[in-house]
Amino acid sequence: MDPVNLFVPVYRIDETLAEIRECLEKGWTGLGFKTVRFETAWKKYTGLPHAHFLNSATAGLHLAVRMLKEDGHWQDGDEIISTPLTFISTNHAIAYENLKPVFADIDEYLCLDPQSAKNLINSRTRAIMFVGVGGNTGRLDEVAALCRQHGLKLILDASHMAGTRLRGLHVGLESDVSIFSFGAVKNLPTADSGMICFLDARLAEEAPKWTWLGIDQDTFSRTVKDAPYKWSYEVVHEGYKYHGNSIMAAMGLVSLKYLEHDNAYRRQIADWYDELLCGEPKIHRVPIAPGCSPSRHLYQIQVGNRDERILALNDTGIYPGVHYRDNTLYKMYAYAQGSCPRAMQAGEQIISLPLHLKLTRQNVQRICNSLIEIVNRKELRACQ
Ligand SMILES: *Cc1c(COP(=O)(O)O)cnc(C)c1O
Repeated sequence: MDPVNLFVPVYRIDETLAEIRECLEKGWTGLGFKTVRFETAWKKYTGLPHAHFLNSATAGLHLAVRMLKEDGHWQDGDEIISTPLTFISTNHAIAYENLKPVFADIDEYLCLDPQSAKNLINSRTRAIMFVGVGGNTGRLDEVAALCRQHGLKLILDASHMAGTRLRGLHVGLESDVSIFSFGAVKNLPTADSGMICFLDARLAEEAPKWTWLGIDQDTFSRTVKDAPYKWSYEVVHEGYKYHGNSIMAAMGLVSLKYLEHDNAYRRQIADWYDELLCGEPKIHRVPIAPGCSPSRHLYQIQVGNRDERILALNDTGIYPGVHYRDNTLYKMYAYAQGSCPRAMQAGEQIISLPLHLKLTRQNVQRICNSLIEIVNRKELRACQ
């Protein structure tokens, strides 16, 4: 039987090639042109006031921390409360700036638990980093309220959240800055890119300088303006090479057109899983928060003896994933090891079942049949 993989990116190939072709014909593959169009389209789609296109979400997470640190005069060693159950980019972004990730535990949605976060707030706390795991909003509202109460910045790692709405509104408006990933396996696939969306107009205006080495104007706007010295630019401070390019933006423009449609199909697949797995006492399905219409980047369950179960699934040609291992188990963040028991337990039990646009109901049925059989197998005794 054909293998069933966790993720399979789907591109609208002819349309994407036509969009890329425009860049090639124009001789404009870099910053400007399609990147500007994609930013405009993203703002229109999400309702967020500002958007700046990047080469990855990892770059965006770093940039968010860097710019907020600069703006708020944070000191080295100041703290950002974060989750241990995330892709390592989230926490590295904090560490890049000599700030300390302080780990709060997760809740039943696998997202940061506001109560646990609240207990960690002290005079050195500057921000909270929230990750919408799998596209779920968890208790994002409560975390936003906590940030307002304590004068903390809210950074949303929305890498899984392209298309996630909370009570009808696209996520991002509750956060000081939100960062989206358009990596190949995310809901809005390019090859590698991301978007940073500040709420504050002043920071949003600063962002393009930071993503292009501190240079104050991008080449495109210099070309279209009739400035007398087109070769002249100012460097206002150091910056990075984090901006996105027109080829990625061309891919993104096409993927964005299909995002609503694709996410609806992802929710359909999740409904099939719910239907076929409900009533299985050994399979715990991670719930979606009330009011959340999720992007459904992931469909996650929790089971006992997870690693063995995954190997058994692999034997039947099914290749699920794990999102994620408790980050405090990594050497680098081991100072916090054992401080988040729920995250540690989830890290040992979670499985992300295959979820992509090529799956059919039959595939889902086959996955569920195998899974149900495997989790109900009698354990082999050690000395049998
Ligand atoms: C994918 C991902 C990132 C990094 O995104 P890139 O665009 O690949 O840099 C960060 N955080 C989370 C939660 C992710 O899943």
